[in-house]
Amino acid sequence: MKKIFLLAAATFFAFDATAQTKVRNEVYYTVSFPNATHHEAEITMTLTDVGRGTLRVRMSRSSAGRYATHEFGKNVYNVRAKDLDGEELTVKQVEGDVYEIANRSNVVKVSYTLFGNHTDGTYASIDASHAHLNMPASFMWAEGLANRPIRFEFVDIDKLGWKVATQLKNEGANVYSAPDLQYMMDSPTELADVKTSYWDLVNTNGKKQKMGIAVHSDDDQATVDNFAKMVQKIVLEERAVFGEQPDYDFGSYTFLDDVHSTNFGDGMEHRNSTSIVDVADKIAGNEKYLLGTYSHEFFHSWNVERIRPKSLEPFNFEHANMSSELWFAEGFTQYYGEMLLVRSGFNTVDEYVPTIAGLINSVTASPAPGKYPQTQMSRYAVFTDAGVAIDATNYANTFTSYYYYGGATALALDLRLRSEFKVTLDDYMRQVWLAYGKTGKPYTIPDLQAVLAKVTTPKFAAAFFTDYIYGVKKEDYQALLANAGLLLQKAQPGKGWLGRVQSKPSNGGLMITGSTASNTPIYKAGIDAGDIILKINGQEAKTATAFTDAVKDKKPGDKIAVSYKNRTGNHEATIVLEESPAYEVVTFEKAGKELTQQQKDFRSSWLSSKVK
Ligand SMILES: [Zn+2]
Repeated sequence: MKKIFLLAAATFFAFDATAQTKVRNEVYYTVSFPNATHHEAEITMTLTDVGRGTLRVRMSRSSAGRYATHEFGKNVYNVRAKDLDGEELTVKQVEGDVYEIANRSNVVKVSYTLFGNHTDGTYASIDASHAHLNMPASFMWAEGLANRPIRFEFVDIDKLGWKVATQLKNEGANVYSAPDLQYMMDSPTELADVKTSYWDLVNTNGKKQKMGIAVHSDDDQATVDNFAKMVQKIVLEERAVFGEQPDYDFGSYTFLDDVHSTNFGDGMEHRNSTSIVDVADKIAGNEKYLLGTYSHEFFHSWNVERIRPKSLEPFNFEHANMSSELWFAEGFTQYYGEMLLVRSGFNTVDEYVPTIAGLINSVTASPAPGKYPQTQMSRYAVFTDAGVAIDATNYANTFTSYYYYGGATALALDLRLRSEFKVTLDDYMRQVWLAYGKTGKPYTIPDLQAVLAKVTTPKFAAAFFTDYIYGVKKEDYQALLANAGLLLQKAQPGKGWLGRVQSKPSNGGLMITGSTASNTPIYKAGIDAGDIILKINGQEAKTATAFTDAVKDKKPGDKIAVSYKNRTGNHEATIVLEESPAYEVVTFEKAGKELTQQQKDFRSSWLSSKVK
């Protein structure tokens, strides 16, 4: 035992001067940026006490909060390994993302170059302005050593003018730690000239927590401070739903935000932070638009980070976890993220009603939710959540986002609880939090049903889960919304509609580029992806607007003649227009209907601030 310790200690001194701070067995990364301009980082990972023999190190293929599988191994090269004496070890790439090292000395130092040039919540992005590191996209790890503590040293970042923003634990200077691989992978890190704005928040148990935003953008400090005040309002409104905030690890929660017009918009929740990536010139002038992601992601600090489905535990970094519960984890979060913007005063009811219509349309206007339950849509996240492939899919008929499907379910459940039981979805969420979030006990769908039974009746809960969660029954949204004085009505009454058409000019006509949906007139006329439209009502079809031009001023029942070709030759078809199934939602006041006191009270109890 002692001998191994001495060897390990010697190792530390062999590698660098910060050895004194190291803990035995820990995985030690150094990260530097000698070629940031060309999007590269140089990373070393030092492993001690690994034993002789074959060591397998690898990149991840999935990322915390992203539900599809990704290939992070493609942006790693110059992979080398050395032993304790600095002697080169043989490295063999055995899979795209897996390397085997023939290890002689119990200590291995692996080094590689990382390329990253995609700023979002999933990948890595390195340039002269920052290193935006999502950990699974950036850091190799060794199989079998997942429980070891981890330490990072960000080298020479002061010279670049960068500070560190992360939920990793600061160990002084530019050294940060994580208790194990699971936590490290969940801790995205922004190295940049970030501006921060922190505030203290006392939890209901009296514990003070440090909350803050850390922003990489072209804003001045006053803008960041002012924006932080807006975020504070949302934080308090969200806390009011659950009655308390989680006790964040290391006493702190940080919103990391990268704002630039060249970014790829994203929001990725983590245990004590969130990685928000905004597509905007800067925060100034866009505050209200940017708050939506904050609202959604912070709700996750309860729902999914702590109220956690068993299916997502633990993170599998070799293959994305599949979950049947994303309708709850993401869908209910989607509902609250939007609704809480009204409660916190950033959106009016009139600004909110299109969102309600969007949720309802997602389950009533497309064919998939009529056939497939939201549990199945949740499982399809392993393909649809930024999963990239080049072959065509039939999602127009087989998929509806679990964000909206689950959001529509949350909306209906909230309105039903309020009208049928005089309780609210907040009451339900609070009970789920107490039973499964605060206790850290992962849940299953039967667990969610049991909590609903407690808040309502076992009979109601059983029927609700059978019909709407496992089944494909749809709620009567018109009746439910009327409780709050909101009118659900057809969005385009009396207008001709042929369905959504994706097309582009090609092969002498207009090529249909995506599957048509089975509930649309164009599908019923036999037209689908790959068909090349030659004429519409006798006019040559050349531009992408040819269909919308032809349908303009037409009524349901009117016919459109289409000439098209495909591999079976030339064809004629007749599209019989229908009325669009899409709904819109308007307030009774806007619709010229009288709002009763009861409806006024219902709406106010639902959408007014709960912060005391
Ligand atoms: Zn989410």
